[in-house]
Amino acid sequence: MRIAVCPGSFDPVTLGHVDIIERAADLFDKVIVLVMSNSSKKPMFTLDERVELIKKCVTRPNVEIDTYSGLLVDYAKAHDAVAIVKGLRAVSDFDYEFQLALINKSLYPKIETLFLPAKGENMFLSSSMVKEVCSLDGDISAFVPKEVVNDIYLRCKGDGSND
Ligand code: ADP
Repeated sequence: MRIAVCPGSFDPVTLGHVDIIERAADLFDKVIVLVMSNSSKKPMFTLDERVELIKKCVTRPNVEIDTYSGLLVDYAKAHDAVAIVKGLRAVSDFDYEFQLALINKSLYPKIETLFLPAKGENMFLSSSMVKEVCSLDGDISAFVPKEVVNDIYLRCKGDGSND
């Protein structure tokens, strides 16, 4: 069984993420969407809330969702993953992602990093942009799956959670 990991913060999940997850699910027997904490950012949703949002919009039978705060290659090794699948947006993503891929390869030579180019309409889409638009009362429905639009609006309006 060929297993791939799709890591990220997914805070919150966007249409760009869903596209990459579904394309990875077409390529691999099993895909683990790995929701990771990012110590440099104050999250809008907790790890468990992010998992619930992804569950609402990704229903492929070969996709599992997990959370993790450690070293990605350790997770990949422990779960027999052969690849890390990442989405690439503008050229600006490339430098950092290439460095990460090389570091991961040197830490765990069996792992491959696979880059899937973002779809044209998702090229400028990020979770940060969604949060920014939402906090300014903009319409986010073109950027995130319809199943989670309301959850994101509620959090933006300040429902008191995760503060
Ligand atoms: P961000 O916070 O920048 O939106 P994440 O860390 O949650 O991103 O990203 C998880 C994965 O999804 C990464 O591989 C990232 O490159 C990819 N990704 C993020 N946004 C998009 C997008 N709009 N189109 C394609 N891939 C994306």
